[in-house]
Amino acid sequence: MNLPKNDINVIFSRLGKQFSNENDFFESHSLESSKKKYSLIKFILGKGNKHKALISAGIHGDEPSGVETICKFLENNQFEKFSKEWELTFLPCLNPYGYEYESRENHEGKDLNRFFKDYNPPHEVIFAKSTLENPYDITIELHEDFMSSGYYLYQLGNYSEDDQLGNKILKAVKEVMPINLNSEIDGHSAEAGIILHKTEFKSMDWWPMAYYSLYKGTRRCLTLETATNFSMDLRVEAHLIAINTALTYFSEK
Ligand SMILES: [Zn+2]
Repeated sequence: MNLPKNDINVIFSRLGKQFSNENDFFESHSLESSKKKYSLIKFILGKGNKHKALISAGIHGDEPSGVETICKFLENNQFEKFSKEWELTFLPCLNPYGYEYESRENHEGKDLNRFFKDYNPPHEVIFAKSTLENPYDITIELHEDFMSSGYYLYQLGNYSEDDQLGNKILKAVKEVMPINLNSEIDGHSAEAGIILHKTEFKSMDWWPMAYYSLYKGTRRCLTLETATNFSMDLRVEAHLIAINTALTYFSEK
């Protein structure tokens, strides 16, 4: 039997230390696998503030830099700058089994980011969908790509004026990590590090989380891909810069 390579409880305990009263912030749902019971965690900072964002990570268990980014966002007190205006909801690790076993899929061998249109999706997806009941100004999904030479992103939204946000993010990230400038990335056409969406999402057989977020009324849905080629510190730094740029963009609107 394979042994776990990471311990999700280390992450939860790092996050828990940031709150004086854990019960105020943590909501946990349990997830049964054949190996053990996992918790699915959600917490909210700045409850009731006017701008709303959802920041999620770890839906692909073998992409730990997003999980680490959320820890660092809290540990480095990066919320302070946004604490008057933003309500931030965090899903720090949507696939805790995958995180522990370094697997993209969950304990049932499912790629969770393919089940957001399914009538009977995995438990982790039901949990993620429950956080998307009310629309956000922005949802940010933190991923990483093993094949990519640099940072890139997907963006979706109903306001074309927000299309400039993708470029703003990449311009800021470029200071620490190169951008993937290929005209094709991960099987999609791309331009200057931004994936170009050609298909009408509603007609697709399956949806990733970003499509469900758009469907539920989120104004701008970002899927951010940092490059696994680089060190963990750099991958995290690039994601933190991207989050900071995205929140600042909406703060200034
Ligand atoms: Zn991913």
